[in-house]
Amino acid sequence: MTDLYAVIGNPIGHTKSPTIHKAFAAQTGQDLDYIAIEGTLGGFAADVDHWRAKGLRGLNITAPFKLDAFAYADRLDDQARRAGAVNCLTFDEQGAEGCNYDGIGLVRDIVVNLGVPMKGRRILLLGTGGATRGALAPFLAEEPTELVLGHRSPEQAAALCAAYAGNGALVAADYASLEEERGAGYDLVVNATSASLFGRSPPVPAGVFRTGGLAYDLAYGKGLTPFLRLAKEAGVQKIADGVGMLVEQAAEAFEHWRGIRPHTNEMIEKLTIPLV
Ligand code: NDP
Repeated sequence: MTDLYAVIGNPIGHTKSPTIHKAFAAQTGQDLDYIAIEGTLGGFAADVDHWRAKGLRGLNITAPFKLDAFAYADRLDDQARRAGAVNCLTFDEQGAEGCNYDGIGLVRDIVVNLGVPMKGRRILLLGTGGATRGALAPFLAEEPTELVLGHRSPEQAAALCAAYAGNGALVAADYASLEEERGAGYDLVVNATSASLFGRSPPVPAGVFRTGGLAYDLAYGKGLTPFLRLAKEAGVQKIADGVGMLVEQAAEAFEHWRGIRPHTNEMIEKLTIPLV
């Protein structure tokens, strides 16, 4: 029997997840179907119950339902618990298991696909929202020399630093103090704010970039975002958007569901929009 999987979000028209998972299924010979569900705002649990009754085996979760999925899950993996958000639900006899593969996918894209090590490096991570919460534990596990959380919300940044106290060299810095720090620069600058979705860049000074470093924008499919343009103009030669992260988190979910790891390079290439 064909197994059913899905992604849920609102809006959901833009999603690439069915394309990715169907290609993974074809590549690995798995008998599954994967659909996109437009979730009801305020009605996440009822929507999921409805599809589970129809035999849904697993569900990817995108904005704005990752916190609803966290609340819905009967049990959580470590990443989801630490992030306070779930981007993958698996349904079995024990109930609904919630996982979070966003941060793992991001690290895999940076370290494996782009070949940029994080260990022993200075990293600047911008934003204090859901994507940052998912990224912090996997980033710290790579043992950077310093992980600076660039933010415009002191309370959220302080709460995140407190939550990860004792887990590595995590400090918070507002955008004004990043300005003062000019000169040293970071090996890796990651834009995990949603500014690119609004055609803007976070107010990060050009001095944070190192020409030999990597500038990475989690937003994808937008070409050269204002953040990536800023990095390019500052002389950064290696820039990337979040398409690799998207495909890698999908591969993690697929492997969790089907017990087989798909190759990702072809799909990343297929979905990549040139950064010009
Ligand atoms: P959230 O809404 O949870 O968080 C957004 C963050 O961005 C907040 O910290 C917010 O600050 C900050 N922010 C927004 N606008 C600005 C601005 N102009 N200047 C400075 N900071 C700003 O979003 P997510 O964390 O869920 O998503 C962040 C980005 O990551 C999005 O672009 C999203 O598309 C992308 N993403 C990509 C994925 C992938 O697979 N490639 C997966 C998940 C997310 P404040 O709290 O002060 O408002």
